[in-house]
Amino acid sequence: MNFSSKLLEDAVNEFSKLPGVGQKTALRLVLHLLNKEQEEVDHFGNSVIKLRKEIKHCGVCHNISDHNICDICTANKRDKDVICVVEDTRDVMAVENTGQYFGVYHVLGGLISPMDGVGPSDLFIDSLVQRVATTPVKEVILALSATMEGDTTLFYLYKRLKDFQIPITTIAKGIAFGGELEYADEITLGRSIVTRVPYHNSLIK
Ligand SMILES: [Zn+2]
Repeated sequence: MNFSSKLLEDAVNEFSKLPGVGQKTALRLVLHLLNKEQEEVDHFGNSVIKLRKEIKHCGVCHNISDHNICDICTANKRDKDVICVVEDTRDVMAVENTGQYFGVYHVLGGLISPMDGVGPSDLFIDSLVQRVATTPVKEVILALSATMEGDTTLFYLYKRLKDFQIPITTIAKGIAFGGELEYADEITLGRSIVTRVPYHNSLIK
């Protein structure tokens, strides 16, 4: 692409680094911003800068938060003794959207993937075990994707948690979790959380 301005070129290059955004789309977005009022563009830029600088991860569940402890972990009405383990913050949003879950979460920050060099120590697994060991927990729900990485992570978590003698449950297979979960049908996802099953059932062949 031949640009008439270096400023234009720089902005287009930055936008085209975003996932799913090619140079043509980037150019369209940049030209769109150029037509906006200065105040609106300032607001856009500042929100991106503030996001990266000021966002926190909850010290208990590792979900993205504006505070050191997130709103879900501090809410009185949530059942603190039921923990739903998910891959990332998109999964928390999807489960929250179902309106069917009243416990708290634990965000792993990814899935075990030897192919990508992601091992258990790269994820928030020790802190989950620590939570289960040090706080009264009635149930751990493993809500991970039905992929090879999801299954590997499920089995690893089960091994780490089974000696605590608490129910470890999982949601129905076939629910799109982790990344795709944001598109999952809320009714199906909500139902699969309500009708969750003990994990050890799936180990019996
Ligand atoms: Zn939290």
